[in-house]
Amino acid sequence: MEFRGVGLTYPGPPPVEALRPCELVVRQGEFLAVVGPSGSGKSTFLNVVGLLDAPTEGTYLLDGIDTAALRDGDRTALRGRRIGFVFQAFHLLPHRSATENVMLAMVYAAVPRAERRARARDVLDRVGLAHRADALPARLSGGERQRVAIARALAARPSLLLCDEPTGNLDSGNAETVLALLGALHASGMTVVVITHDHEVAARAQRTVAIRDGVLTEQPRPERERTL
Ligand code: ADP
Ligand code: MG
Repeated sequence: MEFRGVGLTYPGPPPVEALRPCELVVRQGEFLAVVGPSGSGKSTFLNVVGLLDAPTEGTYLLDGIDTAALRDGDRTALRGRRIGFVFQAFHLLPHRSATENVMLAMVYAAVPRAERRARARDVLDRVGLAHRADALPARLSGGERQRVAIARALAARPSLLLCDEPTGNLDSGNAETVLALLGALHASGMTVVVITHDHEVAARAQRTVAIRDGVLTEQPRPERERTL
C-alpha cells in the first residue's frame, strides 16, 4: 500500500484533522506496528488503509490501484477481496459455531458457497483451532475467540491483514498466543499492520510508525536490530 499525501479531516463542525497528510509505503510481506496515545488518529489511519473511510486529501494506492477512482461498490469489493480486519472486540456471532462465524464472512467476500465450509476448516486449522471448529464463542477462551476472528479475516485470502488493538481485551497469556500467530502469519508472507498500545506487539514488528495528534512519523529501528 502506498500513501501519497494522504490525510483525513472529519467535517465536523468543528472539523477534526484526524490524519495529517502523510507519505507511507508498506510492501508486501512487511509487519508494521502503529503506536500512539488514545485519540491520536490510529483508528482513522486504519480505516483509511482498510477502505472503510476515504481520505479527504492525497492519493491512496492499494496493490497499484488508485482507490480514489473507485465507485462505492468497487471499493467494497476490493476491501472484501484484499483486506482482512481484526478488532479488539472479537465481533463473533454468539449463536454460531467457530466454523459458521468464519463461513459467514465469506458470503461478503464472494467465495463460492460450495467452498466456504472447506475453507473455514482450513483457516481454523491454520490458527490452531481445528479441534474447536464446532464450538460456540461462549465456550472459547478470549485468545481462542480472537483466533477465530483472525481465521475469519484470513478466509477471503486477503493480501493485507489489519488489526486494531488485537490484544487489547486479552490477558497476557492469551495475548501471547495471538501475537505468536500474527508472527507466524507474517513469516508465511502475510502483510500485517497492527495498531497497538502494547510494547510487546511493537517489538515484534519490522517497522513502527507513531501517530501523535494526527501526525504520522516512522520510528527508527532499535540499535540492536540494526546491528544484527
Ligand atoms: P485513536 O484510534 O488513536 O484513539 P481515532 O482515529 O479514533 O484515534 O480518532 C482521532 C481523532 O479523530 C480524535 O480526536 C477523535 O475524536 C476524532 N474522530 C474520530 N472519529 C471521528 C468522526 N467520525 N467524526 C469526528 N471526529 C472523529
Ligand atoms: Mg482507536
